[in-house]
Amino acid sequence: MRIADNVLVAGARVAGAACADVLLDRGATVTVYDRTDSERMRELAARGARCVVADEFDPALLAGVEQVVLSPGFPPHHPIAKAAGEAGIETFSEPELAWRLRGPGAARWLAVTGTNGKTTTTTMLAAMLETAGLRTAALGNIGVPLVHAANGPFDVIAVELSSYQLHWSSELAPTAGAVLNLAPDHLDWHGSFDAYAEAKAAVWRGGQAVVNLDDPSVVALAKHTDAEATGFTLNHPERGQFGVALGFLVDYTGPEPVQICSVDDVHPAGWHNVANALAAAALARQVGVAHADIGDALRKYVPEPHRNVTLVEHGGVTWVDDSKATNPHAAAAALASYDSIVWVAGGQLKGVDVDGLVAQYAPKMRGAVLIGQDRALVADALARHAPGLPVVVLDGRDDAVMTEVASHAAALAEPGDTVLLSPAGASYDMFTSYAHRGDAFAAAARALIEGEAE
Ligand code: ADP
Repeated sequence: MRIADNVLVAGARVAGAACADVLLDRGATVTVYDRTDSERMRELAARGARCVVADEFDPALLAGVEQVVLSPGFPPHHPIAKAAGEAGIETFSEPELAWRLRGPGAARWLAVTGTNGKTTTTTMLAAMLETAGLRTAALGNIGVPLVHAANGPFDVIAVELSSYQLHWSSELAPTAGAVLNLAPDHLDWHGSFDAYAEAKAAVWRGGQAVVNLDDPSVVALAKHTDAEATGFTLNHPERGQFGVALGFLVDYTGPEPVQICSVDDVHPAGWHNVANALAAAALARQVGVAHADIGDALRKYVPEPHRNVTLVEHGGVTWVDDSKATNPHAAAAALASYDSIVWVAGGQLKGVDVDGLVAQYAPKMRGAVLIGQDRALVADALARHAPGLPVVVLDGRDDAVMTEVASHAAALAEPGDTVLLSPAGASYDMFTSYAHRGDAFAAAARALIEGEAE
């Protein structure tokens, strides 16, 4: 059964509400469940959906339901997922629904997943496709529901997929899919690292796999699939791979290596972004984008905010917003990019251990300023690995704490240092999003600097 006539949609935020709309358009009987009421819920009710707002999910709602569309907020151990599983009701995510809605002539999908770098790679890829003159868009986990665009005016779409979305998929099979990297994240949702990795492997269901050869977990995962693999590496590529040689990004999948562009053309700077660019290039080549277009797109690429972005330089100190670093693996990429750092970190670690990160990068730190729910865990790790390091732990519980962060960070920093917000944790303990957190940090840094300049 590809799409049933009686469907329950759990979660009515952007993607869930879009699913309900599309199902109503098809004439399906639609139940929408959410814990909180919203304008969107009322709109869906006006369109004929049965909308249920309740703290607890009542399994009786599943009576007569043939399929369930789950938003990322519903992990496999959630009562809805369990009740649906016990009743033999198929469950899937919004991208899976979008895949099933595709009609003849629908766009080809090039998909990107991984612990970090998904949005950067997806937007780089969309830029490459656009430069080649293809009708394209960056869609999916990036914030734009796929269901709306399933049959849109596109030749090829750049699709960002999260582990949650891939977990709840079964038929979705992109033309090619990349796994950028794998590091512990969202373990509380998936239950284990293996389950998390396994979910990501679904991006290769279409048979063409783009594989990060520098990440042993990705390589190990690729061994278990039947997909045909194209590897990328930051090292000198062997025949059949993408890589870096003599300061250039190189495609060596043909008989001779082809230079794509210089490493210096890739921004934001940092080797992790060169890896992202290589993954995007490998995907773009799967639909025949010319090397010159790939290089042009990378030169023109406008980076996304809150990802290792320099905000301001003052008194020899550079302030950098990497608020999107919501796990230690992402923070490691930023910490590797600077020499002497005042580290601003904390937030929700989501059950992920920060010890390895701290052990590796504490030697580069001038000091640290810690905020948020799990600040004590980070402080403990710093105390163990860098006993003499000045560490300020702030107890503030709302975003006004960023003013204190900025003044402590400025006091710790010396000319030549970088004050780096790269929290290694999620932002929801104190902010509405990573963007809100980054904006609060940027505003506090600017206010401090303007105050000093007066
Ligand atoms: P995602 O969409 O997977 O969250 P983003 O492109 O938004 O990825 O970047 C998230 C964070 O990860 C940022 O802090 C960024 O600097 C960092 N990052 C980007 N690419 C990589 C990578 N390949 N490896 C490690 N960290 C990365």
